[in-house]
Amino acid sequence: MIYLDNNATTPIDPRVREAMLPFLGASFGNPSSPHAAGRAAREAMEKARAQVAALVGASADSMVFTGGGTESITTAIRGALAAQPDKRHIVTSSIEHSATKNLCAQLEREGFEVTWLRVDGGGRPDLAQYAAALRDDTALVSVIWANNETGVLFPVEEMARLADERRIVFHIDAVQAAGKVPINLARVPVHLLSLAAHKFHGPKGVGALFVRSGLGLPPLLRGGGQESGRRAGTENVPGIVGLGVAAELAMLALPVEMPRVAALRDEFEAGVRSRFPDARFHGDPAHRLANTTNFALPGRDAQGLLAGLDRLGVACSIGSACTSGEVDASHVLRAMGVGDEEARSSLRFSFSRMNTGAELPAALAALEQAAARL
Ligand SMILES: *Cc1c(COP(=O)(O)O)cnc(C)c1O
Repeated sequence: MIYLDNNATTPIDPRVREAMLPFLGASFGNPSSPHAAGRAAREAMEKARAQVAALVGASADSMVFTGGGTESITTAIRGALAAQPDKRHIVTSSIEHSATKNLCAQLEREGFEVTWLRVDGGGRPDLAQYAAALRDDTALVSVIWANNETGVLFPVEEMARLADERRIVFHIDAVQAAGKVPINLARVPVHLLSLAAHKFHGPKGVGALFVRSGLGLPPLLRGGGQESGRRAGTENVPGIVGLGVAAELAMLALPVEMPRVAALRDEFEAGVRSRFPDARFHGDPAHRLANTTNFALPGRDAQGLLAGLDRLGVACSIGSACTSGEVDASHVLRAMGVGDEEARSSLRFSFSRMNTGAELPAALAALEQAAARL
């Protein structure tokens, strides 16, 4: 299989798996237990906390372990609202991951007011609209750093500064950015940041939430006093150990691997262009992740292309969500002004450091074959 769907999830790095194995075996202690088995688990967990903090330039005690990206995002948004009951306004964007999009839609039903920032044709926000949207009763801003469908990057530093000046809590969904772009929270006034291990060659179902010190954030899950009362429940020690090692490996690999991955992606795009002169590429090419490409092959149904590619051993993704059998055109592409029909013929290919140039000719040939069969 040629796996080009790394924005959905990534293969676990063998070094991550090796580091996790003892905690699925002899090292099974509960980190809250004071005996030797518990202490060993706690020590491993605290090492992982330092490793994941280093990936984002934060202090270890500001990192809270969670059950993944969706839980981190929900904790950040619900927590920021609960901490400021007098503020009922939220600012987000129209191209969020469903974790944020569907939560904010639910919050609207609960009586909160949500401003959905529009984006331009390249998928970037309108900063004038953003600045005007910030109000005295705005409880928080929550936006995505790198879009999962297009890879487009938001100007997070600028947006965080504007919110910070107005003393508005700023949460960033960095699930797709972590491990792919350098992050230094010592320099950027972000208050909350979400990430998930499985998007950078770690295990699924484990993530972290950065909570800037001094920000009182009520927990989503109440119960035991784990994570200093910030997230109850016995910790997923094997997952957390895997998250830590994955974070360290991603940080070390980033300066060398992201330029290599960008070159792979660019070569793939050039191959698509030469085979399909009518291909339409989506997302601002100057502001996007190194690993992602999203394009339409007009007149070809993306679901048919995906199925054809799958039969030929190539995994990619369609930029649309399937709800009860009906395919909805991607809300991300629609927000960028892409028509429904073009959105329905759009594919996403996302690379990782595990991909090689040797895979490109076969992937391009498969795309050509799948398109010819439609
Ligand atoms: C994958 C993803 C999420 C959700 O993370 P889970 O670990 O699947 O809960 C949130 N935001 C973005 C941008 C993502 O790519």
